[in-house]
Amino acid sequence: MAKIGFIGLGTMGLPMSINLINGDHKVTGFDKNPDKLSAFQRAGGAVAKSSLECIEDAQFIITMLPQSSDVYEILINNKVTTNSFLPGTIFIDMTTSHPHTTDKLHKHLSKINIEMLDAPVGRTSTMAASGKLLIMVGGTKTTLIKAEPILNLMGSTIVHCGGAGMGSRMKIVNNYMTTITNLVTAETLNLCKKSGLDIDLALKTMRQTTATNGHIDKSYPARALQNNYDPIFALELAYKDLQIGIDLAEKIGTPTVLGKEASKVYKTGIDKGLGKLDWTYMYELLKG
Ligand code: NAD
Repeated sequence: MAKIGFIGLGTMGLPMSINLINGDHKVTGFDKNPDKLSAFQRAGGAVAKSSLECIEDAQFIITMLPQSSDVYEILINNKVTTNSFLPGTIFIDMTTSHPHTTDKLHKHLSKINIEMLDAPVGRTSTMAASGKLLIMVGGTKTTLIKAEPILNLMGSTIVHCGGAGMGSRMKIVNNYMTTITNLVTAETLNLCKKSGLDIDLALKTMRQTTATNGHIDKSYPARALQNNYDPIFALELAYKDLQIGIDLAEKIGTPTVLGKEASKVYKTGIDKGLGKLDWTYMYELLKG
């Protein structure tokens, strides 16, 4: 049994932490939202009063926060030092983070002799509940081997993407593609409908050509096409990931023509106060 500190018990973090509890680990959690803490406690978790308390007595510390600035705030602005950790602690950031912040965190923790993995996840909160996430890991193989029994309770596919920061980069590249594909799917399905095509038939047909994608296959049938916009993945988080992708590409010097256009559409949704809805709400927004 390992002692695990889990910070960020939201849509993803709560089911992930519950899988660790069910794997017979002692999990101490913190979230700034008291409702999330109560749900975690009901599932058998021990509640900490602060993120620092979560860090202090853990062999593994996991963060699953909205953005990398939240992780940065906890670790660096709080002036966490070597004395804040148990010897041999492994810090695992599972947030979809900006790779440049991830690089800074690796550098900071390495200076104080704490091992770190960046390990953001793919797939949905439903897969988080069933322990079948895809986990993209950056860090040394040695650290990954130590953390694997913990990661295996949350994910069914672990991909070692390379050294420090490579998990973060893989996730951002993946989400650059899928946030843009979301808009193409929304536009195309509106075009189908207004052309008088049967949507189910259109989906079935496009799944058998190069037009197919994960939205046609999974997210639209589960949300937009059911007229259900309870967030599996919030529009504002999709926008955040797309912005990180654009920023990363601009710093490297690769084009972001589609990314920038898509970003404007997401921003329109957020400005209309729709950021907490599911990202497939783009289907409504692009009805014209
Ligand atoms: P969420 O907003 O549901 O949960 C984040 C939680 O962090 C909230 O409960 C919030 O109260 C808490 N929090 C924020 N700042 C905090 C702080 N300083 N201290 C303690 N708690 C704090 O978000 P989510 O959907 O669980 O996503 C978490 C991360 O996973 C994001 O980076 C997101 O991009 C990524 N992600 C989400 C999905 C998805 O389908 N929802 C899928 C893959 C990856």
